[in-house]
Amino acid sequence: MQVDLVTVAVAVETPQHTGLGAPLDYASTAPGLPPGTLVRVPLGRREVPGIVWERPPGDAPPELKPVREVLASLPPLGDSWRQLVGFAAAYYQRGLGELALAVLPPELRKLDDVQLTRRIARLHRAEAPPAAAPGDPLHGPALNDEQRAAVEAIGAAPGTYLLHGVTGSGKTEVYLHAAEAALAAGRQVLVMVPEINLTPQLEARFAERFAGRRLVSLHSGLTPAQRLRHWMLAHLGAADLVLGTRLAVFASLPRLGLIVADEEHDPSFKQQEGARYSARDLAVYRGHVEGVPVVLGSATPSLETWQRVLEGRYRRLALPQRIGGGVLPRVRLFDMNTLPRQRGSAGPALAPPLVQAIAERIERGEQSLLFLNRRGYAPVLHCTACGWKSGCPHCSAWRVFHKGDRSLRCHHCGFTERVPRACPDCGNLDIAPLGRGTERLEEQIAELLPGARVARIDADTTRTKGSLEAQLGAVHAGDVDVLVGTQMIAKGHDFRRITLVAAVNPDSALFASDFRAPERLFSLLMQAAGRAGRDAEQAARSEMWVQTWHPRHTLYAALRRHDYEAFAAGQLEERLAAGLPPFASLALLRAEAREAAVAQAFLRAAAERVQAQAESMGVTIYPPVPPPVARVADVDRMQMLVESPTRGALQRLLAGWLPQMHTLRAQHKGVLRWAVDVDPLAI
Ligand code: ADP
Ligand code: ZN
Ligand code: ZN
Repeated sequence: MQVDLVTVAVAVETPQHTGLGAPLDYASTAPGLPPGTLVRVPLGRREVPGIVWERPPGDAPPELKPVREVLASLPPLGDSWRQLVGFAAAYYQRGLGELALAVLPPELRKLDDVQLTRRIARLHRAEAPPAAAPGDPLHGPALNDEQRAAVEAIGAAPGTYLLHGVTGSGKTEVYLHAAEAALAAGRQVLVMVPEINLTPQLEARFAERFAGRRLVSLHSGLTPAQRLRHWMLAHLGAADLVLGTRLAVFASLPRLGLIVADEEHDPSFKQQEGARYSARDLAVYRGHVEGVPVVLGSATPSLETWQRVLEGRYRRLALPQRIGGGVLPRVRLFDMNTLPRQRGSAGPALAPPLVQAIAERIERGEQSLLFLNRRGYAPVLHCTACGWKSGCPHCSAWRVFHKGDRSLRCHHCGFTERVPRACPDCGNLDIAPLGRGTERLEEQIAELLPGARVARIDADTTRTKGSLEAQLGAVHAGDVDVLVGTQMIAKGHDFRRITLVAAVNPDSALFASDFRAPERLFSLLMQAAGRAGRDAEQAARSEMWVQTWHPRHTLYAALRRHDYEAFAAGQLEERLAAGLPPFASLALLRAEAREAAVAQAFLRAAAERVQAQAESMGVTIYPPVPPPVARVADVDRMQMLVESPTRGALQRLLAGWLPQMHTLRAQHKGVLRWAVDVDPLAI
């Protein structure tokens, strides 16, 4: 009997940086396998999952291996999903199959068709009729004029919208109404947040408001089984709302009608390893491809987004006031230069007037929130006799002193030792902490305010599952007077009793080498300010304190007036003058080796390959330099900045260049890893 074989292209996960990015050809007996179908195919000696892709015209090689299995029970991944993945792979310079399979739930890749059929049947059985009929009128507050105008604009036309308003200005209410309109039209809604465990209230609000709808979450905290189930519900069209972190931008949503990215400026939207994609930027692309509105919400939009608003490419929808008459707290810049100097110490943790202000809050039964962006007790220990410091033997970094377990811990490689009793170099017993982290701040506040109930929230106190929730619960219940923490506590939470927020030591960001540091500081401080004074009565006595040695800095001047636009204008002017984003496109090539010289030689050789071409395109390739922390876990790192006046030129250069890197690497034996980061957050 004659069996007709057809050629199909299949995207498979080929090993990283082999240069095999494109789909591979296979033979199939199943006629007309539609693109997007999940299959299993042989690759080398293994059998691997793959996705049928459009096949470019051309002859197939004569000897084709057959597709082993077609996972026919799963509907094919849609055209727009494949377009999104194809775009992301090309833009962020990854293999198509590598990216396509990496963004599927890991469990899905393990299943055969029989198992898959069973899972799908189980999903269908588990579906309860909805508790309330869909299309229920929204039982939230009546919208104000600005909110209504925003909801109407979003519903009227696809496009990218900046929903611009401070914490408490009613943005979430706009998301809910826009979502309701999309759902009523039979569409699915994707809502993305930077970190899901920091925004439990948002999820709770959506769940409560859309009780009659099926809402699923997608983030890395789910078990593999949960993630598969939620992904399948979205893909099968059974879930109406998907609430997730950056990886949710790749959810398969056949009826997508609206995308929301809350706190769009947040760096968490950028994936920092593997395919280094920006979920915010991909959301905008996805909205464009699918012809659906994309709502970017923020009080302090990223300068990329803001520039597009100024250019008229995104439309700004402003929510200028806090709901309920709450105003942003008065910002008080405390000039630390006015304090008497204490020789040889880090100085007082808190200025006396700030301590006084906190004490008044405690008296009134109100809460204060203090943040300091450094965890541990002190960033470094030192010997007062010989000058020894607690460096990490494996990294170019100090080891942080954690007093709780008396350890010295490297935050880069994890190397941990008990604190030595005496200086390892000279035997001196007087080794002392330098500087201050949250652990020390907590201790000092307890000393300054005896009897105050002080709690600390940072990565160290929230390691175990459920501990963050428990600690937040204590704050909400009023069991805490002073909450100390890292930027974790400055974001998202809706604390009702806080009337004082203080940034203990924010100055370092003013002079950081990272060009985005001021932007991040401004947004963090604005967000922190938003924690206080959410109702009119409280707002009147709410304050934000900033302890600074540079009280006249323009960033603080803008913060004092809550003036994002002035701050953004100043920053954009600097970026334009310096040729930085959003006025230029950047990529960073990184290389790692046991010795910096090896990584450097590799990057130099890479640059030579395309130097002439880059120059003709107006693209600048800067010499390789070490990053701020150059050595981590006994590996040296080097990076090379590529700067282009346009995205297009950068893309053309990288597309031709990176495949050559594979051969180059073979010639530079000591190179352990290399990677490209398109639109890097920090350079
Ligand atoms: P944001 O997302 O900007 O922080 P929210 O949407 O959470 O703001 O609104 C802040 C608070 O005000 C919430 O408790 C919300 O329920 C309430 N709220 C929002 N819009 C209105 C409105 N139009 N009328 C009354 N209350 C509102
Ligand atoms: Zn010593
Ligand atoms: Zn280390």
